[in-house]
Formats: sequence, structure tokens, C-alpha cells
Amino acid sequence: MGIQKNTSIENLARENVKGLKPYASARDEYVSDGSPMVFLDANENPFDNGYNRYPDPRQRKLKELLARQKGLQTSQILLGNGSDEVLDLIYRAFCEPGRDNVLTLPPTYGMYKVLADVNAVENREVLLESNFEPNVEGILKAADQHSKILFLCSPNNPTANSFSRDRIRALLEHFPGLVVIDEAYIDFSSEPSWLSELAQWPRLIVTQTLSKAYGLAGIRLGICYASDEIIAILNKIKPPYNVNELTQQKAYEGVRDTEGVKKEVTQILSERARLIQSLRAIPSVKEVYPSDANFVLARMDDAARRYGELLSQGIVVRNRSGQPLCDNTLRFTVGTPGENEKLIEALKS
Ligand SMILES: *Cc1c(COP(=O)(O)O)cnc(C)c1O
Repeated sequence: MGIQKNTSIENLARENVKGLKPYASARDEYVSDGSPMVFLDANENPFDNGYNRYPDPRQRKLKELLARQKGLQTSQILLGNGSDEVLDLIYRAFCEPGRDNVLTLPPTYGMYKVLADVNAVENREVLLESNFEPNVEGILKAADQHSKILFLCSPNNPTANSFSRDRIRALLEHFPGLVVIDEAYIDFSSEPSWLSELAQWPRLIVTQTLSKAYGLAGIRLGICYASDEIIAILNKIKPPYNVNELTQQKAYEGVRDTEGVKKEVTQILSERARLIQSLRAIPSVKEVYPSDANFVLARMDDAARRYGELLSQGIVVRNRSGQPLCDNTLRFTVGTPGENEKLIEALKS
């Protein structure tokens, strides 16, 4: 197993970020240790209703729980308003607009490109191979000294496969910038998380979210795991109160309820198997790809037509036909048993 070369993380950061100190908000300076204190520092309304105080900008309680569960330090965790904010912070900390570039591997999650455009960062696209695996040689050839981030979505949205560990390892060894492995769907995967290799790869960032397996898309909580050094840089630009109090509380409950999450994931996995089997028996479905996530990608005879037919029956799916390698494909999220049944019945008719 290799060691990443040129590991100076500080050198990858933007010039203006290198000099920054994290903004110290009022609530950052003193935290009650349980002994009674009088807080007259943040211009809050003093009357207690549970939410009159600013939330903990470092989200200590939630991070301690996550750190315990994952066997990491809290200094290796950054939390955001969904993974989308986490990904945006990574762009803004490391990519100089108009100069730096990132690499993405279509067909993949659309947000990487949106954030590249928003941040005026060049997005170099290297298509997945026909088996939906990363083209390692093509990626390394497309990279240069201004390539700051490589986005690997594994399991990948919308193709639903996990990337080969050997290929990811080769990219971790040779890609000159940060490697972000987006594990939004890791809880549905038969592959282990890359978190266990975090210590080994100083330029590795693993992102996860409560939006999928944890059933908490509505509270917006994204998680970034990386080296202390990377997290310290991201903390310099993080808005102090980016994770609100309601979210911190609800997230804590959700993360603590490992049994409840496991139960739902198990049910989704068995529904996924059933859905794949049923789809394979439907004439308008030409190919169903294996899935390591909570959705299934299927190649149809005529995706636009089937999409419209489903819609007219009140069933909304995602037409991925516009994406490279995804001609005539629909993406089906695994729903409840009843919802999946409705989908199958609609496709049959
Ligand atoms: C759904 C999804 C996310 C989740 O983003 P949040 O902002 O945390 O809701 C992240 N990455 C991928 C690839 C996804 O499909």
C-alpha cells in the first residue's frame, strides 16, 4: 500500500485561506461547563424557550458521538448544512477561481459540476468506462499542478455501483490533489467505507450524509471526515452557525439510533432485491444494473415514453438519459413495499 507524495496540505489551500484565522463568534469564546454562567455576550433574547441561544458552532456533542462510532477524533470531523455545503467549503478552501481545476467522472452526482461553475473553477470531465469504473489512466493524464480535487462518488449516483478498491487506491496514490470519496450511499453498500483508511491517506476526504440511510434529508446534515490538517483549513472558512440547533439535536438522536437505522436499511435492501427481480421481468426494461445503493438504474426501451407514462399515473422517477453512458435509462429510488408494488404494476400495464 502506497503513501501519498507531496503531502503538504497547506500548499494546496488557496493563498487567502492560508492566512485566515477562524472567525471566533461570541458563542465560541466561552462554553458553559455546567456551572451557572450569565451570557450577555451575543445579543440574544435572554428568555429561555430552548432555542433562544445560538447553537454550538463546533457541534461538539454530535461530533463526539460520531467520533466514538467511527473510531476517529473530533478534530477529523467537519459538519455542514448537507453534504452540499461541505463540498462547497472544500471548493472554496482549496480552489483558486479562474486558475485551479477539479476532476469529475460523469455520469455522476450533478452537484460537483454546479459547485465548480458557481466557484468559477474549471471542471475536467473524464468519463467512466463502459463498466462504470473510473478511467485511472485518463484521470491522471488530465490532471496537472492546478488539479486540486478529484471527486469519486462511490457508490456512484446514478450508476449505483461502487468503484473498484484497486482503482481508488491507484488514484489515492497518484492523484496530486485532494481525493474526495462521496459515500452518501455507503450504508447500502456491500463494500466497507474508506474511513478505516483515513490515517493512511493524508489527502483523502470522505463525505457522508444523514439524507439517505438515516432518513433525515429534511434536517440537512452533511459530514466530512479527513485529516486534522484538512479539517482545520475547512474550519477557517466555515460559517460559525452553519448547523442549527434543531438539526444538531435531531441528528444526535438519529445517529444514536443505530438499531433503527439498521432496521430500515435492511428493509430497503430486501426491497431493492425484490425490485430488481421484478424489473428484470418487465418487457419495457432492457437491462437492470446491479445496485450498491438505495436506487436502481435501468435501461428502458424508450425512457422518455416510460417516464411520461409513469408520471401520468402519479409516479415520479428520474430520467437519466441526458447523462453520458446512460442513454434511455431511468433511475428508481427504492420506496416502501407499497410504492415499489405500484411502480411495478404501472410498468407492467
Ligand atoms: C443525495 C446525495 C448527497 C446528499 O447531499 P446532502 O446535501 O447531504 O443531502 C451527496 N452526494 C450524493 C452523490 C448524493 O446522491
